[in-house]
Amino acid sequence: MMEYPLLLSHLFNRGRKLFAKKQIASRTLEGVFRYTYADFAGRVLRLMGALKGMGVKEGDVVGTFAWNDFRHLEIYFAVPMLGAILHTINLRLFPDQLAYIINHAEDKVIFVGDDILPLLKPFIDKLPNVERFVVLAEKENAVPEDLEGALNYETLLETAGPIEPRQDLSEWTPCGLCYTTATSGNPKGVIYTHRGLFLHSMATGMVDSAGLSESDVVMPVVPMFHVNGWGIPFAAVGVGANIVLPGPKPTPKDLVELIEAERVTTVAGLPTVWVGMADTLLNERHDVSSLRVIVNGGAAIPKALIETFEKKIGVPIMQGYGMTETSPIVTVGWIKSGLRELPYDELLSIKAKQGLPLFGVDFRVVGPDGKEIAWNGKEIGELQFRGPWIAKEYFKDPEMTKASFTADGWFRTQDIVTVDEEGYILIVDRERDLIKSGGEWVSSLDLENTLMAHPKVAEACVIGVPDEKWGECPVAYIVARKGFQGSLTKEELASFLKDRVASFWIPGAFYFVSEIPKTSVGKFSKRILRDRYLSGIV
Ligand code: ADP
Repeated sequence: MMEYPLLLSHLFNRGRKLFAKKQIASRTLEGVFRYTYADFAGRVLRLMGALKGMGVKEGDVVGTFAWNDFRHLEIYFAVPMLGAILHTINLRLFPDQLAYIINHAEDKVIFVGDDILPLLKPFIDKLPNVERFVVLAEKENAVPEDLEGALNYETLLETAGPIEPRQDLSEWTPCGLCYTTATSGNPKGVIYTHRGLFLHSMATGMVDSAGLSESDVVMPVVPMFHVNGWGIPFAAVGVGANIVLPGPKPTPKDLVELIEAERVTTVAGLPTVWVGMADTLLNERHDVSSLRVIVNGGAAIPKALIETFEKKIGVPIMQGYGMTETSPIVTVGWIKSGLRELPYDELLSIKAKQGLPLFGVDFRVVGPDGKEIAWNGKEIGELQFRGPWIAKEYFKDPEMTKASFTADGWFRTQDIVTVDEEGYILIVDRERDLIKSGGEWVSSLDLENTLMAHPKVAEACVIGVPDEKWGECPVAYIVARKGFQGSLTKEELASFLKDRVASFWIPGAFYFVSEIPKTSVGKFSKRILRDRYLSGIV
């Protein structure tokens, strides 16, 4: 067979040649901007010319600090197709972490949204490698005078000549870089290759997966600064789907209105998004009948929320699971044909699992004794992966690499899981969140899931805290639903749990709060809760 390199330019060329008339709609604060794949492609080629003109070459790192919008999508393709590395920066990190990441990655150019530029300002003089900032804004918006040498994106494109994607690159060429959210220590970087993301895109398009196709109208709500926007920008252009980009700080109402107006078929995001969207859909009249599926990922979704979407709103939810180190998608929760006739309760239990591994990745689960666990839905162990879109190391971090990759070539997720007889993987906890009470494991995720099935509970988050008698015990932080704040009691919750979980799982304390602290991408931050608890604040 031919030695054909798997490059991201293949996806781009396929998109522009076969699907030139397909649409990209991008929400701005003024309204929806809309153009065709043909227009998009023309601008990408000019952007490549502009980058080359700025001296960006193979191996250089180009940062983006941007929302999900059409300009960000253009940069997503232009940078890798030159042989350079697209470094998407999480705009919700703290200033110290941002400065660390930008310097560690050695970003040469940074594309930054004009409305979020102030977030970079406090440490902009501490970024010695950055040669130039390009401000993402309309041409009329002047570039801030205090940003030396900065350029306006539209002016840059206007003055640049188009160049074609490089075809002489090896498929192993680095094309992307993303840092994990720092849960302890500094964020860790992961380098993606053209080959890895090409194969990841193919796998997400498969039917027994997210099944992304030309007939879809896909809206990634997951930020494009978070693990390649789950690969949707690349896969969507490759298959020729219409793309809807939700733009700056979309509210649940903005998202629902976009789904309705653009006839979106597939949306992808974290559970916090669906909580807000469910509220809007249950309280206002909107037509979301175009939706084929909601893809939930990034954190476990409570069964009760899946049921609300499926029974009350009429839209199926499917889980995708992955991490920064796995590009990210490695499992998807589709239902095998032989299981589709099961009673709804049993189906719901399967849907609440993280799913089956994608075509192309290998997994194993290693128990505390170092041996692979049995697939019986009971034994627990650490989930490990290997495959063409799994990282083999952390960027410039040999110490963390040694700790996270096994000697025989597997990546350690630090997620503790069970596997059932059918091969469905269920995350019990992240290793650091596991609770051992009186010598027995308590799954904080399972407990949260059960608590969130209580009709008066909006959000529940469980952590383990030191306990004299049991070693550790679970405590629960509860956000009551609107209308029940102040009236929901711990006795009510404890008695609800009594029939549903083992007695040693019942939390030692329930704290009613107005909000659960979240990480930079909107997951429950158990670290903040634990730190608070240990310093005496609840
Ligand atoms: P962070 O450490 O900031 O959460 P990642 O975005 O890489 O960084 O998160 C990966 C982790 O998120 C996984 O290890 C897993 O614990 C959790 N996760 C991702 N998807 C799911 C899912 N569908 N269900 C449950 N947990 C998930």
